[in-house]
Amino acid sequence: MAERSFIEWTDATWNPVTGCNKVSPGCKHCYAERLAKRLKAMGNPRYANGFRVTLHPDVADAPLRWKTPRMIFTCSMADLFHERVPVEFVRQVFETMQVANWHTFQVLTKRARRLVELAPDLPWPSNVWVGVSVERKDYLWRIDCLRQVPARVRFLSCEPLLGPLDLDLKGIHWVIVGGESGPGARPMKEEWAQSIRDQCVDAGVPMFFKQWGGVHDKRGHDKAVLDGRLWREWPHWDGRNGRNRNLVSAGQPLPLLGEEGSTFPSATSRDRAPVR
Ligand code: SF4
Repeated sequence: MAERSFIEWTDATWNPVTGCNKVSPGCKHCYAERLAKRLKAMGNPRYANGFRVTLHPDVADAPLRWKTPRMIFTCSMADLFHERVPVEFVRQVFETMQVANWHTFQVLTKRARRLVELAPDLPWPSNVWVGVSVERKDYLWRIDCLRQVPARVRFLSCEPLLGPLDLDLKGIHWVIVGGESGPGARPMKEEWAQSIRDQCVDAGVPMFFKQWGGVHDKRGHDKAVLDGRLWREWPHWDGRNGRNRNLVSAGQPLPLLGEEGSTFPSATSRDRAPVR
């Protein structure tokens, strides 16, 4: 269940839960749904239920066996805070993340209200980053929910970005921005991404501009150039795994990939050894 990831802002994925259902416009072309259906068709036993919410207790403690520190996206194929995931199981996942403190875990949800509801029942170790998706202005309320949880790093995923956003970044430590990619991708306007970049710079919040999006070419990695620069900033974080990251200041311009002095981690240069 641990896989190297081609998501630019993580190293590996861990899926103690798979499956979900759509809750907001950002879900329309859900990548996890497409992949789950494909894996089911290929006979992968983990996806025998397709995209139905399914718990995998046999891998709930898997990161304890992975010795190399990794940035791990927890539940990339699900939403851990889905209402069909019992609180006991969510707690078990958090307890694993707490014990596996040599890793950094990233949990991203669109079910921000349940995140707030369950937060008092969960441990909040500093190696767990928690984020909410904010794809359109009618989902800005998720940020208010996120601010209520005591995560060491609270982040926003504005991907797929579907409209302009006026963000309140108080108490937020990182913002990811990206357009939609794949079949039927809805376009992201350049000024929407520029505006978020400007808001992040003003607020001193690091921004990771992931991709422009598109039907055939998502224009990620070294093509994710915004106003002549890559914006691949990471949260300011002094945890034990931070040592392998180039933690840059918000607003600090980064050189293009391959330019002399290029010092930031990229999908092509980062260590991508399989997690075991
Ligand atoms: S919440 Fe996430 S995993 Fe669930 S349907 Fe929406 S995009 Fe897919």
